[in-house]
Amino acid sequence: MRNRVLMVASLAALATGCAHDGARWYKGNTHAHTVLCGHADSTPEEVATWYLDRGYNFLILSEHNKFIDPASVRLREHRRDDFILIPGAEITGKKTIHTTGMNLDELVDWSFDSERKSEIIQHHTDGAIAAGGVAILNHPNFRWAVTADDMLPVQRLHLFELFNGHPLVNNEGDEEHISTEELWDVLLTEGMAIYGVSSDDVHSLKRWGRDVSNPGRGWVMVRAETLTPDAITSAMQRGRFYATSGVILETVKVTVPRRGYSQGYYEVAVDEAATARELTSDLILGRRVKHAVEGFRIQWIGPRGEVVSDMHATRSIREIDPGVAYLRCRVTYARKVDGGYEEFYAWTQPIFTDGRLDTFGASMQVADTHTRAGGRTHAVGP
Ligand SMILES: [Zn+2]
Ligand SMILES: [Zn+2]
Repeated sequence: MRNRVLMVASLAALATGCAHDGARWYKGNTHAHTVLCGHADSTPEEVATWYLDRGYNFLILSEHNKFIDPASVRLREHRRDDFILIPGAEITGKKTIHTTGMNLDELVDWSFDSERKSEIIQHHTDGAIAAGGVAILNHPNFRWAVTADDMLPVQRLHLFELFNGHPLVNNEGDEEHISTEELWDVLLTEGMAIYGVSSDDVHSLKRWGRDVSNPGRGWVMVRAETLTPDAITSAMQRGRFYATSGVILETVKVTVPRRGYSQGYYEVAVDEAATARELTSDLILGRRVKHAVEGFRIQWIGPRGEVVSDMHATRSIREIDPGVAYLRCRVTYARKVDGGYEEFYAWTQPIFTDGRLDTFGASMQVADTHTRAGGRTHAVGP
C-alpha cells in the first residue's frame, strides 16, 4: 500500500497545477496554416495577428513540412507582451500521418516510409525530439489514417489531437470507426501515457462557415510559470493543461495524498463567466446532439472509458482510487439550438496511479535555443 500511495503522490505532482503554485493559465493554439502551404488563405502575419487580437497567449504556425521562424513574422509594434509564437511545423508524412513538431530548432524529415504506420509515427516523434521539441500526433481520424494499434507501440509520444477544428477530420468517428475520445481511452487503458490536445488546424481567415477550417474552435489552456516556448512546451508534455472546445475551467487541481493523513483528490471547477464569454463567439462550433440537459455536466472517466461519476454541476471533487489506473474529467456545456442541442467540452488530462510515467522524465527534451531551417511542401489537407 505504501508504494502505491507514494506512486500516486509522485505522479499527481505532474498533473495540472494548483491555485497557489505561482503559475497561471495561458491560452494557445498548436496548429495553424498559412499561404506558405499553398492551400490556406492568409499570411503568417495575418494568422498570428488574428490570434494576438483575440486574447491568445501563444500560437504555433505549424506549416506542412516548412519551418516558419517566429523571428521572420513581423507583428505590429506596441502589441501586448503576453503573446508568443512557438516555433514548429506539421511533419506531413507518408500514409497521411501528420505530426506537429512543437518548439523545434529546425525542420524535421517527413519522407520516411514504412509498411508499419507506428514506425512512421515513431520517426516523426524522434525527429521532433532530435530537433529540440516534442511531438503531437495530429487528427488520427483524418482519412481514418491512424488507429490505436498504430499508436500503442510508439515510444516518447505523449500528446495527440483529441479535438481538431478542421471539418474533414472525423473527431466523432462513424459507424465503423471509434471517436478520437474513445481512441484516447483505448490508449490510456492499454497503458500509454498520452495527453489530449485541442487545436484549430486553421486554413482560412477569408472565407467562413461550418465547412471551412476557421480559427477559434479548439484550443488548450496551459498552466505554466512563465510564457516562453520552453515553459509552455514542458508544461504540455507533463500534462499541465486541458483541451477545450469552449468550456473554460477555473480550477484543475490534484491534491497529493499524504499517507495516514489524507486521500488524493482531483478537483475540477467551471469558470462560468469565462465560458459564457467564449460561447458568445460566432466562430465556436458545438457538437450537435439530439438530447441533452441544458447547462454544465461533469463526468469522471476511468479505464475503458467507463464513466465512474456523472453529475450536472459546476464543481466536483473526486477521490483518487490508487487501484484504478487513471482518472480524467470531461466537462460539458449544453445549450438548445434548432432541432436539438449543441455541446461544448473541456477535457482535463488523466492522472495515473500505475507508475506508467516512471520513465517519463527521460523523454523531456526541450531546447534552449532555436535556429532557422528551410523546406519544401507538397502536402494538401489538414
Ligand atoms: Zn494541419
Ligand atoms: Zn494535418
